[in-house]
Amino acid sequence: MAGSTGPGVEGWRRIVTGGVPARAVALALVLLGACSSPPASEPASKPSTAPAAIDRQPPTAPVEVAKAPAPAAEPAKPAPAFAPRFDPPRPVPPKVEPTVRVRVGTRLREPQSFRCPSGEFTVMVGSERWTAQAPIRVTRTATGWSVTAKGSARSFAAGPMELRPVGKASLDWDGASWPGVATLVPLPDGVDVVMQVGVEEYLPGVLAKELYPQWDEDAFRAQAVAARSWVLVEESRWEGRRHYDVTSGESSQAWAGHTRNARAREAVAATCGMVLVFEGGVVPAFYSSSCGGRGANAMGSVTQNPNHDIGPVRSGDQPARTGCCEAASFKASSHYRWSATVAPATVQQAIRAYGQRNGFPTWAGIDQPIAIEASQTASNGRPVEYRLRFKERNPVMIPASKLREAINGGIAGEGGSRTLKSDDFTVAPTPKGFVFTGRGFGHGVGMCQHGAQATAKAGKEWRAILERYYPGARCERAW
Ligand SMILES: [Zn+2]
Repeated sequence: MAGSTGPGVEGWRRIVTGGVPARAVALALVLLGACSSPPASEPASKPSTAPAAIDRQPPTAPVEVAKAPAPAAEPAKPAPAFAPRFDPPRPVPPKVEPTVRVRVGTRLREPQSFRCPSGEFTVMVGSERWTAQAPIRVTRTATGWSVTAKGSARSFAAGPMELRPVGKASLDWDGASWPGVATLVPLPDGVDVVMQVGVEEYLPGVLAKELYPQWDEDAFRAQAVAARSWVLVEESRWEGRRHYDVTSGESSQAWAGHTRNARAREAVAATCGMVLVFEGGVVPAFYSSSCGGRGANAMGSVTQNPNHDIGPVRSGDQPARTGCCEAASFKASSHYRWSATVAPATVQQAIRAYGQRNGFPTWAGIDQPIAIEASQTASNGRPVEYRLRFKERNPVMIPASKLREAINGGIAGEGGSRTLKSDDFTVAPTPKGFVFTGRGFGHGVGMCQHGAQATAKAGKEWRAILERYYPGARCERAW
């Protein structure tokens, strides 16, 4: 049965490209546009034939992003405590624009409908091919797939199904327009939809979701380079190990799919192929909404890979920041400084549940804490580990990012609620419960998005913004 082919097996890249080498696909997409076309005149910026809205709504606030999922973030993989180490080196800057596989839907159980501008799809499963008139409706069956097209229908054997729009590589699904080629991946508990798209065509939809549309051009350009660098590291990390590189949600970089946001498209075109490089490898350019005035180190916070422990993302070793996200407009928001009250019993339950879900036996049996305090800090003062004290047991130390994740009820690498907006806080026991008083919004590694905007407003151009938030990294054109 198709479901037996779970994520994590070798050879996904070959499967999702339908036997076409990934680089060839990349090249084909490069030929379709990428660096050469100014954004305003790209065919992709023309209205889609789809009746559905093209852009999703912009976020109410820049969201926490680029949180690198730990290798154990995949539910199908073993718990982190026992997971085999996988620490790939940082990739060298690729000379040809790569494609990225973005999971846009997961564990879907209902039939799915797809349209495309040309009105025609090539449907492929293994060596079977069929040219179908859109709209098509795909249903998973006991033996594989059933596809209903305009005026005809056909069954396919089990296995990943590729939907390749004829002509322009974009399709309409789930109320949005998605650039690239779709693969429907059958899993034991549903179907994943993965878009394979050239990096340059992918990025505008990231910027459209990550930044306010009225923000400065230079903030957009800095964000484009950071997002491009980050996704290259993810792409090289997951190739052959998983059937997607990133998701379209906040556990990766938020992605709107195709966007008509002119500022986003301009920023990507103006920085086409530009990536951050340090000692020959691409920088995993993590970023988040607000650092609260002091950054965090990537290592132990958003990555466990020692190859990512490099100067440009040791933000906790950089001095505390001024002229960053404390800009008056943001300072007044509830993100720059925030507080949350959580009952000790809730803290206990959340850590226990987190320990059980993620294979940390000590945490799974934890008592109710009576105090929570920083036990280790980075050189700028930001906590990297907290000590939980108890009435009758020895203290337990928990890394800052894990404690936040646990209290927010998330699974490792996939966030949870936003009760604690960052892992930089002090905790006061009160009769009402623990009062967490915190700084910033997001993990705090690398570029601070609100700080990038403040820096742009202060007259700095995008390269200077990148130098500020990724010190020591060089900005190079890869393709
Ligand atoms: Zn900041």
